[in-house]
Amino acid sequence: MDIAALNSTKVLRWNVLRWMCFCFGSLSAIFSAFNLTVNNFYTLGYLEICFSLYCLYTFIRLGKQALQVWQSIVMCALITLIVVFGTYIATPKNGVFIWSFALPILYYLLLGKYPGVILSASLLSLQSIILFEKSPLLPFTTFNLSLNLSLTYISIWAVSHIFEVSRAHSSKRLKNLALLDPLTGAGNRLSMSHYFEVELQDKSQLFLFLLDLDFFKQVNDKYGHDVGDKVLVEIAALLRVTLAKGYVFRVGGEEFALLSSFKNADDAFAAAEKLRSIVETTNIDIDGKVINLTISIGVTEYKNGQTLLEFVNLADKELYKAKRLGRNKVYG
Ligand code: GH3
Ligand code: MG
Ligand code: MG
Repeated sequence: MDIAALNSTKVLRWNVLRWMCFCFGSLSAIFSAFNLTVNNFYTLGYLEICFSLYCLYTFIRLGKQALQVWQSIVMCALITLIVVFGTYIATPKNGVFIWSFALPILYYLLLGKYPGVILSASLLSLQSIILFEKSPLLPFTTFNLSLNLSLTYISIWAVSHIFEVSRAHSSKRLKNLALLDPLTGAGNRLSMSHYFEVELQDKSQLFLFLLDLDFFKQVNDKYGHDVGDKVLVEIAALLRVTLAKGYVFRVGGEEFALLSSFKNADDAFAAAEKLRSIVETTNIDIDGKVINLTISIGVTEYKNGQTLLEFVNLADKELYKAKRLGRNKVYG
């Protein structure tokens, strides 16, 4: 499975920005011709030409590579500048200010919730001040029109906000569903490979602990599968709390993989030994039944150029040795 497919926010923003460049770039080219020849708004006209060229450049660039956050920021800044400047130099009758109504949607789609709130509020204040300054001119002499304009803007802003909040929420839920083990809340195999291959840029001094519960089948046989499940949840929580930094993944029924970096092999072994000893001495209380468990751990250090599979296989060999040597051991 391609984990990039789970990053719906990035895909959405990439699409919005690319097609916005196409639409606004074309519109801006038309407006610039109009402003330079009919309206005689030269500064605005030249600004729009620059904006069109920037849109064309960004459209082509986005066709070849992923979206960079700064591209969304620059796009929002440029459109805001053109709309505010246009509102400032033109009379309200020209209706340039009407473009303000589209901006909250863009802010939320391209930059997300918090920038959306701040930019939408700033734009409303700025445009209100500019239009208020021009109030002797029609049609802003009527209170009703001003009220309707403000309320329309606020409605579009509110809808954009609600849309973005629920979109971000469902995107996060989908990601969690795909990447987290539903029983223990630890990462699953997919999130482990994503973390290893995409997120973890610096793999120097990276260690893998592959860990298996000893004689876990006996827990199921003695107390039942339900209790076994609850034990797994407790163990995952214990591992997360004990491992000060790094990530815990559930990679098999009662097998976990821990990825963390340490200064050296001694520190890594000390951390693995601490995990082993804490599990051994913890009384796991499940509905009044006190269960004691032990774990075996295989430890390996990452070597440059290794794939995740090679890395895991080496740790698996060490784990196998720990099991063979009698279990409740750290080996590596
Ligand atoms: P060893 O020390 O050799 O690892 O012994 P073991 O009994 O832990 O190992 P084995 O691989 O023979 O059995 C693992 C058991 O883990 C089998 C299965 O009943 C149990 N198990 C696997 N996944 C789950 C799960 O999601 N929930 C519960 N309750 N048990 C599970
Ligand atoms: Mg086991
Ligand atoms: Mg096992």
